[in-house]
Amino acid sequence: MSGDSLLTDDLDIALPACAERAWARRAIGLLQGDARRSADTHLIKPVFPGLTGLSVYLKDESTHPTGSLKHRLARSLVLYGICNGHIREGTTLVEASSGSTAVSEAYFARILHLPFIAVMPRTTSRQKIEAIERFGGQCHLVERSGEVYEAAQRIAAETGGHYLDQFTFAERATDWRGNNNIAESIFAQMENEEHPTPEWVVMSAGTGGTSATIGRYIRYRNLPTRLCVVDVENSVFYDSYVSGDRTVSRDDGSRIEGIGRPRVEPSFLPTVIDHMIRVPDAASLAAMHVLSKRIFRQVGGSTGTNFFGLCRIAAQMMHEKREGALVTLICDSGARYADTYYNPDWLKENGLDIAPYVDQLERFLDTGRLQA
Ligand SMILES: *Cc1c(COP(=O)(O)O)cnc(C)c1O
Repeated sequence: MSGDSLLTDDLDIALPACAERAWARRAIGLLQGDARRSADTHLIKPVFPGLTGLSVYLKDESTHPTGSLKHRLARSLVLYGICNGHIREGTTLVEASSGSTAVSEAYFARILHLPFIAVMPRTTSRQKIEAIERFGGQCHLVERSGEVYEAAQRIAAETGGHYLDQFTFAERATDWRGNNNIAESIFAQMENEEHPTPEWVVMSAGTGGTSATIGRYIRYRNLPTRLCVVDVENSVFYDSYVSGDRTVSRDDGSRIEGIGRPRVEPSFLPTVIDHMIRVPDAASLAAMHVLSKRIFRQVGGSTGTNFFGLCRIAAQMMHEKREGALVTLICDSGARYADTYYNPDWLKENGLDIAPYVDQLERFLDTGRLQA
């Protein structure tokens, strides 16, 4: 065979077109348009008179168009699926969720005219189910939170669809070095502050994706900031962090929607976490109520977990006479939990007495004192 014929053979066979890409290019354009219409979220700085020497910042992720930090994740997961060629024209999107991610994904599925099926525990709040359906998504409810993974995988296989799989892909679908990820946004918004480099960032874990993004970014930017992850009851993250065992699992589900999991999710990265605290559910919900009163609007349960963890760190810092900045997140709004966390009957039915924690928190935030 001569070298010539390698170049001239088969010239009459046309090269393949990129027909599939016409849809992908339109889809990317629609997602970029949505991003361009959106502003960054606020970093608010409430003042607590008892916390002398400390500045507290709350990154308010409740103001995204779909009401939670999962807006960022849903956008990243959909982009990741399109850019990997897994999401095409007409692909059914399927997700396992405790609700917030599914609400945000339903929003993006509607923008892209794709069918969407959310697999969620039956205990998911009515407001989230309604939001998903309003965005044109379908809800498939299962009895136990540990059943969502298999059900989602099965439905994706049956429909020839794409399982977005937030619990696996959250940590890698987000650009870890920047691209306005939540960590880059927080640290940029801190630049003009008295203490521009926070001592601690406190965050709860659902997928673990947000804490992974923040922990990696701290290391990448070579900052002395430490990351504390807070966990809840009926969740394996804390035990796994302490023991190093990633195989622990349990049957029941977390009562704090969005965080705490029955298995150690692949996106949970313990190696970028400096400290973990387990917060009782009654303390999470007490902190949710206390913070909501002080910032004049209702926050969700996981924000309470975050805020309680932040207060624990603040108490320790004051005890050690240290000064500096502490950052945590408002993950979603309390409007989604009117029937549950904000309903005194629900608290009673679930055996949650928040009053002692409310008193402790009020005293600490007003006076800095831990004891009456
Ligand atoms: C998902 C979620 C979290 C936790 O964020 P991850 O990045 O998944 O760990 C916290 N609060 C709410 C309301 C959530 O939906």
